[in-house]
This record gives sequence, C-alpha cells and structure tokens, in this order.
Amino acid sequence: MREPMFFNLQCSLVDHPETISAVVYTRFCNWNCWGCHNMKYLLKGKDLVSYTMEDIIQAAKNPLVELLIITGGEPLIQGDEFIDALRYLRQNIEKPIRLDTNGTSPELVKQVKEEGLVDGFAVDVKFPYWLEDHDNILQKITGTKDIDKSAILKTMKMVDGMPFSLFRTVRYPILSNELLSCITTYMKDNFTSPHFVNTYYTFNNV
Ligand code: SF4
Repeated sequence: MREPMFFNLQCSLVDHPETISAVVYTRFCNWNCWGCHNMKYLLKGKDLVSYTMEDIIQAAKNPLVELLIITGGEPLIQGDEFIDALRYLRQNIEKPIRLDTNGTSPELVKQVKEEGLVDGFAVDVKFPYWLEDHDNILQKITGTKDIDKSAILKTMKMVDGMPFSLFRTVRYPILSNELLSCITTYMKDNFTSPHFVNTYYTFNNV
C-alpha cells in the first residue's frame, strides 16, 4: 500500500503575511538543521497524523482559507510521487498554493514552476550562499556537509518575483551580525520578493 505523504494539516495566521493559510507537512529532510522545529516528528517520521489529498482539498475549500502551504521536512525529496500529488492538488484546488523548500533541488523547482503547479515558494536563506568561505558555519547550521550552494542560488533566482514567493532567514546564534547583514543587504539588492529575518527559538527536539 502507498505510504501517506501529507501530515498534520492545520490552519495558520502566521506562515504567510496577512494571509490565512491551510498548512500541511511532508516527512523527512535531506538536511539536519540546528534546532529544527520539525526534528522530533517530521524528520523522524514519528507520531504524525496523516491526511489524504481529499482532506487537503476540503480544507482549502474553507472560505476563510486564502492559501495552501505545503512544507516539510523537504517536500521535494519525495521526487516524482510528490510532483504527481501536487498536480492532483492543483487540479482540484482553486486557491493559491505555496511550496516551501530548502532550495537543494533546482531541477524539480524548475519543473514545478514551468508546469504552473504553485503560485510561489518559500526558501530559507540560512547562510549567504554566494560567499565562498565560512562553509564551516553553513555545515553547523544545516548539519550537512558538501552543500551545493550554487544549486540553492539557482532555486532562489527561479522563484523570485512569483506572487506568493518569499525568503526567510533564521537568526541562528552562530550567524554573526556581519553574515546576517551580508544576507539582508544582498537580498535587498538582488531579489524582489520579500525577505524576513526570524528570531531563533530553541526547541526541545528530544
Ligand atoms: S531544511 Fe527545514 S525541515 Fe530540513 S532540517 Fe532544516 S529546518 Fe528542518
């Protein structure tokens, strides 16, 4: 039997500016970020409540819901099966859809964008990916070695300017003021979609 793909459907007033969203999660991620709030459940795939695509379609029909957000984990690591699910949701939901990604799969982002399957993406700018140094900080933030920074930059450029795209940076304690300022300045100078800096909150991941 096919494994469930979507979990923990909920309503949110804070995930997209001035918008009431239905938010649904996918499991697992190719990164292991410092303090990831989804570590305990989504990344380990434990204690989750699964939802069918029909449940998601019904939730999106709620007149109060203005946007469907699909987040993770990293949804795109599920590849073709996820893209098929996204096609089905797109065909059956009249509201806008935003997809959240860490940016590591630009080819899939390109496919999703070219097929018109979403109205925007949220990409976390966890580090100044355009810098050639400080990779030790990037590794500490993401818990991952050998990250292809150019792939993430490619994703960022592709999603910029879409109606529901946005960028977010968590103010990790390890990110110096200098690196944070490098991110905010670069984003302002090179991207048109909004960029938000979010406070880092500790979370019990045990
Ligand atoms: S990319 Fe997102 S979901 Fe994945 S480990 Fe990092 S914070 Fe968690």
